[in-house]
Amino acid sequence: MAGKGTVLVTGGSGYIGGWCVIGLLKEGYAVRTTVRDLAKEPAVRAALGKAADTTNLSFHAADLMSDAGWDAATEGCDYVLHVASPLGVTDPKDPDVLIRPAREGARRAVSAAIKAGVKRVVQTSSVAATSPIEGASDFLADETVWTDPNAQGVSVYAQSKTLAERAAWELIGEAGGRTTLATVNPTLVLGPVLSGDFSDSVQVVERLLTGRMPGMPRMGFNVVDVRDVADLHIRAMTAPEAAGQRLIAASGFAWMAEMADMLKAELGPAAAKVPTRKVPDLMVRLASLFDTDLRFVVPRLGRRYDFTSKKAQELLGWRPRPVRETVMDCARSLIEAGAV
Ligand code: NAP
Repeated sequence: MAGKGTVLVTGGSGYIGGWCVIGLLKEGYAVRTTVRDLAKEPAVRAALGKAADTTNLSFHAADLMSDAGWDAATEGCDYVLHVASPLGVTDPKDPDVLIRPAREGARRAVSAAIKAGVKRVVQTSSVAATSPIEGASDFLADETVWTDPNAQGVSVYAQSKTLAERAAWELIGEAGGRTTLATVNPTLVLGPVLSGDFSDSVQVVERLLTGRMPGMPRMGFNVVDVRDVADLHIRAMTAPEAAGQRLIAASGFAWMAEMADMLKAELGPAAAKVPTRKVPDLMVRLASLFDTDLRFVVPRLGRRYDFTSKKAQELLGWRPRPVRETVMDCARSLIEAGAV
């Protein structure tokens, strides 16, 4: 048995969950992970096994939408990293498709953790839960900002993450026991993928490499590396000073055109399809009338919506790697996985 204790990571089949499992195994923890369907175990174990010895990894079945399995998965654990939650780039017709698994899943995972008496839960939230109302001006937000889930124009995904995070803080506050909570709120997560089955966030690089994006809108994101996000979860799990803290995981802001330039400069022929053309705002606005995927792009055109991770850096000594390294490692891993 691993000597440092036992950690449950929900959603080890996912991008961030997978890298959290790898980080914990490397640090000597015994790790359990939940998947909806245990038939996924061989594929997930094989993918994680590329980066860590998975001897001390076990699998439990649990769905965010059902009570079954959560107590058994959590009993005897020292810590819980609650990572599982559906991602949504576009708004589903029925908001509950995202909101229910996020909020009810958070309640199930955190309640089971409290019942099991774990020392700390680290919940993966998002900067979608720390955003001022998007408007005419740029912003630089920190952890003091809470997204208003009822404000006009807030995406269903942002509502789901805000409501799930609130649910977790409420449950921990009401329990008032030994279990403490910290949240990690990442920006756009990129970096190496472990297989061709990757998170929606990676589409930003995948679309550039495959030329699926014929040109670049004037849009940018703060980017953070998946390995650094996992590292922050693990620091937040044990550091006494992280108890009760929201921690933004952010590295640097990059415009799509800057990411395209990085790929072109470093990948040679593998970047042949990366677009060089910039798409005028007016064209994006017109296209969004027909393509609902573009509707979330329009309010962001030319805006620098940015986030600071000063708190995680000062409190926990966390150091995110530069965006360029993250984008390039993401691209190279997609090429290696045969995904582009
Ligand atoms: P991902 O690769 O799509 O992983 C999502 C994980 O959630 C998978 O393990 C998935 O399990 C699990 N899941 C989804 N619905 C579930 C359900 N009903 N019951 C049980 N498990 C369920 O996404 P990711 O990028 O790693 O995201 C993980 C977390 O990070 C999410 O909470 C997300 O909101 C947050 N986050 C992500 C980003 C980003 O840019 N990627 C940024 C900020 C925050 P299956 O394998 O069974 O589908």
